[in-house]
Amino acid sequence: MQTAQIKTVKKLHSIQRSSGSHWVGNGFPVRTLFAYPNLGSVISPFLMLDYAGPAVFPPTQEKLGVGEHPHRGFETVSIVYSGEVTHRDSAGGGGTIGEGDVQWMTAASGLVHEEFHSANFAKRGGRFEMVQLWVNLPAQYKTAPPRYQSISSEQIPVIHFPNGEGTARIIAGTLTGSHGPAETHTPLQVWDMRLNHKEALQLPITDGHNAMLVLLSGSLQVDGTQLQTAEVALFDRVGNTLQIDHAKNATLLLLSGEPLREPIVGSGPFVMNTPEEIRQAISDYQQGKMGRLA
Ligand code: MN
Repeated sequence: MQTAQIKTVKKLHSIQRSSGSHWVGNGFPVRTLFAYPNLGSVISPFLMLDYAGPAVFPPTQEKLGVGEHPHRGFETVSIVYSGEVTHRDSAGGGGTIGEGDVQWMTAASGLVHEEFHSANFAKRGGRFEMVQLWVNLPAQYKTAPPRYQSISSEQIPVIHFPNGEGTARIIAGTLTGSHGPAETHTPLQVWDMRLNHKEALQLPITDGHNAMLVLLSGSLQVDGTQLQTAEVALFDRVGNTLQIDHAKNATLLLLSGEPLREPIVGSGPFVMNTPEEIRQAISDYQQGKMGRLA
């Protein structure tokens, strides 16, 4: 005999919004929608999310973006909605990603890289929109070799919800038997969703996992609360179901995962577990141990 699982809906924890915008290099006008210094365990295993644009860039011959800089201890995940980004790192990873593509870079023990608008995009100009998400690594993987996953739009399975309620592109994790192509170090979900529905939509999310919705455009309501553009709804860990009351022309990211339950000590581009490991990271970078771009 089968026992039906009882649905328990996760409660809204809080709404986060950016307090302003800043430039990363000269290519990325970003709003930081959530960050670990004030949210830590509530968002684990995620650390930070920068929403770049949407912004229109005029055609230019200039190189727009951010030059050589290091990372250690976590992963950077870039999801392009509009425009093109070219990347190159000291571990040999690199490439150009465009609309719908994802770059999943595991910095782990450390590397240096550069991130620019692609030369072609810069030359023709146009609308630029991208998300960069930082995903923490468990202590045991912070010293592993770096890795680079370039995920093209065609590799990402698309779930169609019934009655035209919308779609979910499964970048990482699993939904109704479809598996995202990103290889992750801990159980987590990254779904790129488009929703338009008047009736409640319920999504299965593991009980005990953190969960959040990042609204990029359109509107939606959760737990009786309206979410505006560039706001993030954080949910309680308790509950196996995330409910979206209704949504209108919404583009959003669903992020969820098993919390790491390890101390987080970070400084700039390094996120480790202890102050000593941060001192070591700074010293290793200064001594060139994270490599150099050719
Ligand atoms: Mn970077």
